[in-house]
Amino acid sequence: MKLLITGGAGFIGSHVVRLFVTKYPEYQIYNLDKLTYAGNLANLSDIENAPNYTFIKGDITDAKFLEDMFAEIPFDGVIHLAAESHVDRSISDPMAFVLTNVVGTVNLLNAAKNSWSGNFEGKRFYHVSTDEVYGSLHNPEDFFTEETSYDPQSPYSASKAASDHFVRAYGNTYKLPVVLSNCSNNYGPNHFPEKLIPLMIHNIQTNKPLPVYGKGENVRDWLFVVDHARAIDTVFHKGVLGETYNIGGFNEWKNIDLVNLLCSVMDKKLGRPEGTSAKLITYVTDRAGHDLRYAIDANKIMNELGWQPSLQFEEGLEKTVDWFLANQEWLDNVTSGAYQSYYQEMYSNR
Ligand code: NAD
Repeated sequence: MKLLITGGAGFIGSHVVRLFVTKYPEYQIYNLDKLTYAGNLANLSDIENAPNYTFIKGDITDAKFLEDMFAEIPFDGVIHLAAESHVDRSISDPMAFVLTNVVGTVNLLNAAKNSWSGNFEGKRFYHVSTDEVYGSLHNPEDFFTEETSYDPQSPYSASKAASDHFVRAYGNTYKLPVVLSNCSNNYGPNHFPEKLIPLMIHNIQTNKPLPVYGKGENVRDWLFVVDHARAIDTVFHKGVLGETYNIGGFNEWKNIDLVNLLCSVMDKKLGRPEGTSAKLITYVTDRAGHDLRYAIDANKIMNELGWQPSLQFEEGLEKTVDWFLANQEWLDNVTSGAYQSYYQEMYSNR
């Protein structure tokens, strides 16, 4: 099995690459990544010399590069994670999201289709997507199922929705062997500190304000990233072609409750009196078009493919905090340079 994983230097991709490289020594794993601000090969330093692992630096918006790569390496499978992934960045620069998430995905579909040229035996194209394509839930009893209509609200979710539609269209039109999953919010080691949980951990450590959007009422369903990687392994190997699987932890948290829990974990870890970190909470102008609630019904993957999350949230959060405290150098490297100027721009006027 020659398996191409795109976006493997990013947050989720690095956990997927590590899982496949270590669990399937008989597979050849190729990690294709452009190494944008979000891609970091330090995420994979523990497996970079594994005999079944190869890193390829490249850009999925470059169709010719992809065609040449597929001509050189006869891939049997693709797990596609490469994307622009941050909603706030999609609001300030939507075109980057159209190019990578939509055009890049179609380039990859074309490269796989042309290289496999109708011989799909043993082949599989797996597209990793988000629950944000479904828009926002308004009724507290509702969950996103695989039948929920798409209603994306941000340029990020619109670009992911478009990419999902193209993947399904290639399955229908060209019979490309595709499978998809849509997952809730991930958290865990290697998470880039522009996202809620690592941003809060970093700001608590450095005694900076903890910016909470609006009144902190937005609800998200959180899943430990290693459990998402395990789910991706399950869907890649056992998912029925043409199907979509929703992945989530049945673990809903209001942003403000999550931040308070994190403050209390951090106070304990840093040996500060309870309540110290919570004093840093600062409410900032809400994100434009901010969806109120996301919640995933993950019964299909649980019942049909036998996947279950392995960690309770409190346990996962503590593991995450421990990882960030033990990996100060990783955080310092990531928070220097370009990220600093982005952070200034995002939060200086709020
Ligand atoms: P990330 O931003 O941490 O990583 C994305 C990776 O893609 C980076 O390594 C980056 O260098 C690479 N990349 C970006 N543009 C590229 C290009 N043009 N060519 C090649 N590589 C490129 O993202 P993530 O949080 O790990 O998300 C990975 C995937 O999972 C995305 O498709 C995202 O939509 C999806 N997803 C994320 C979450 C979440 O909570 N983070 C939840 C559900 C689904």
